Amino acid sequence: MYRITLIPGDGTGPEITEAARRVLEATGVGFEWDIQNAGEDVYEQEGTPLPERVLESIRRNRVAIKGPVTTPVGTGFRSVNVTLRQTLDLYSCVRPCKTYKGAKTRYEDIDLVIFRENTEDLYAGIEFQKDSGGAKAIIDTVRKISGRVIRQDSGISIKPISVFGTERIVRAAFEYARKNRRRKVTAVHKANIMKFSDGLFLEVAREVARKYPDIEFEDKIIDNMCMQLVQKPGLYDVLVLPNLYGDIVSDLAAGLVGGLGLAPGANIGDEYAVFEATHGSAPKYKGLNKVNPLAVILSGVMMLRHLGETEAADRLDNAVASVIEEGRDVTYDMKPAPDDPGAATTSGVADAIISRIT
Ligand code: NAD
Repeated sequence: MYRITLIPGDGTGPEITEAARRVLEATGVGFEWDIQNAGEDVYEQEGTPLPERVLESIRRNRVAIKGPVTTPVGTGFRSVNVTLRQTLDLYSCVRPCKTYKGAKTRYEDIDLVIFRENTEDLYAGIEFQKDSGGAKAIIDTVRKISGRVIRQDSGISIKPISVFGTERIVRAAFEYARKNRRRKVTAVHKANIMKFSDGLFLEVAREVARKYPDIEFEDKIIDNMCMQLVQKPGLYDVLVLPNLYGDIVSDLAAGLVGGLGLAPGANIGDEYAVFEATHGSAPKYKGLNKVNPLAVILSGVMMLRHLGETEAADRLDNAVASVIEEGRDVTYDMKPAPDDPGAATTSGVADAIISRIT
């Protein structure tokens, strides 16, 4: 029996995590769910979108599955997702993107795994509002130490990239490659422009790569990488990226394999792991039993593998693959036209998967 923290999230989160809970239970693996609400509603009731009890639950259980949580743009509370990743030091964001037969895609046989650094870079959350004391102090200091002028009416976000942070994410990518018999790791950066942040990322990545002579290593500049992924995704295998590029390229790669509804993910540290879809809370569909639960269900497959339940993970993955291949019990986003009257509901997809789990 595994005790797992279940965070339903907000928007469409509760519907899709319920679907995931049902299919995970149908594998026959024993779960006891420690349900912990977080997000918008919790913010109104408890004054914080991420109460300490949620973090304590994950620390206790070590593994969590999570629905998406809305982040207000510009104002309001800070991102629950970013805070969770930073507080629990979930430094690897792992996002596999592979084509399932029957899914609407431009390419067949895509099988990419993205390792996004999850704690540093422009996501570090070190920001200074325009006209604040902090922004003014930075503008003054930068002028003093470098002679460079930042306009007075600037808002400022800091981009830290460390040797420590880079070493461990690149190592995680190579370890994954070795364990899963992958042939190549590609480090993605903009070191030609940001010489001391992305440049350091590249330098450290090269050093780590030397310890893995059995796996091919290359690097690509982020803009070129985006073009290459659209044109020749088959050339790539495992990608390792700083936080922001990793975020953007994950959505690009999700688009290559049939959309966000099919892109699972995991946030993994040395102590804890939180499994969640790449997509957000899709709030306009909240309560409609309409959106695709497959991304969070496939995150559940990753969770089973993490728990060592390989055989159950394979059975669930095969059931998902069979539903996709048949193409009948899939949601609107996987139908030839989004207004297809035959589109399945969120819970209907879960039912179809459950009926196919052997
Ligand atoms: P989104 O991922 O919610 O939606 C982007 C597009 O994809 C929308 O058209 C949406 O309808 C569609 N989509 C998303 N999930 C889908 C699914 N399961 N099935 C079918 N279609 C799906 O991105 P957004 O609109 O930019 O963000 C909404 C909110 O989610 C924001 O507040 C954002 O901060 C938050 N967010 C949270 C997470 C997380 O919890 N990890 C991740 C990304 C965004």
